[in-house]
Amino acid sequence: MGFVFADLHLHTRFSDGTYTPEELVAEAHRQGFVTLSITDHDTVEGCPAMARACAEHGLQFIPGVELTAEYEGLEVHILGYGFDPGHPELLEQMDRFQAVRQQRIHEMVARLNEMNIPLPVERVFALANCRSPGRPHVARALVEAGVCRDLDEAFERFLKKHRPAWVPKWKVSVPEAIRLLHRAGGVAVLAHPGLYYADPVLPDLVRAGLDGIECFHTKHTPTVTERYLALAGRYGLVVTGGSDCHGYNKGQPLLGSIRLAPEFVERLQHRIAARRAECSMKGS
Ligand code: AMP
Ligand code: FE
Ligand code: FE
Ligand code: ZN
Repeated sequence: MGFVFADLHLHTRFSDGTYTPEELVAEAHRQGFVTLSITDHDTVEGCPAMARACAEHGLQFIPGVELTAEYEGLEVHILGYGFDPGHPELLEQMDRFQAVRQQRIHEMVARLNEMNIPLPVERVFALANCRSPGRPHVARALVEAGVCRDLDEAFERFLKKHRPAWVPKWKVSVPEAIRLLHRAGGVAVLAHPGLYYADPVLPDLVRAGLDGIECFHTKHTPTVTERYLALAGRYGLVVTGGSDCHGYNKGQPLLGSIRLAPEFVERLQHRIAARRAECSMKGS
């Protein structure tokens, strides 16, 4: 066996990944995956193409998104799964997040220009070629212009928090993100909790309706994974996992680094079905 695994955390060109949904699905199929999601930052635009590509390869597809949210000053990423990608309120909110992201690109490039780095903002938008641009696109433009050797240098010198071209970004609160996903018929999962110390606020997030934790993630050590598996059990949360592959962003693509077992996908699907039933009972 072995060929029944899932990757539920994947980025494409609809945000800061380098694969198209079609390329990503073809590669995942080649690697033997049977279930995929797409979790671009603050956009669900890639869902239809990903669904089509999955259907063509006979793979199971779960609509997904990665929302940039915050809780008590801490940036927290919330993964949404199983929602209706055409839900009007969800789409309206995505437009709002994307407008903020685009404005932030202008501000970051203005900061760079003030430092006598003549980077045209048009070049960043051309490279990004999507509605949900982010810092990696500014970083790629800096590398292309020969200002930085690689993406890491661009983040270290300019783009990381509190570096000269860093601009804070307006974010939704985690409870708002959770409510939005629920209203759209989906579930809300805390992304890669090992990358920020969200443990103290976990009980609050559970009270706000959090459905799951991403226990399996490329950057989680086995110890970290174990800790979150235990917390998921304690709080009755579903367990998800994914590579967080951004394509050829840096080095080799991460696709294949996480293979989520089918039992977790099944429990996630049950949770989604329960949320859907709740949604239709409320008549929304
Ligand atoms: P943003 O959404 O604009 O705040 O940018 C955050 C994204 O930048 C993350 O999702 C990562 O994909 C990417 N990122 C963060 N640090 C680095 C780094 N050192 N090199 C390349 N990409 C990075
Ligand atoms: Fe990213
Ligand atoms: Fe993330
Ligand atoms: Zn991600």
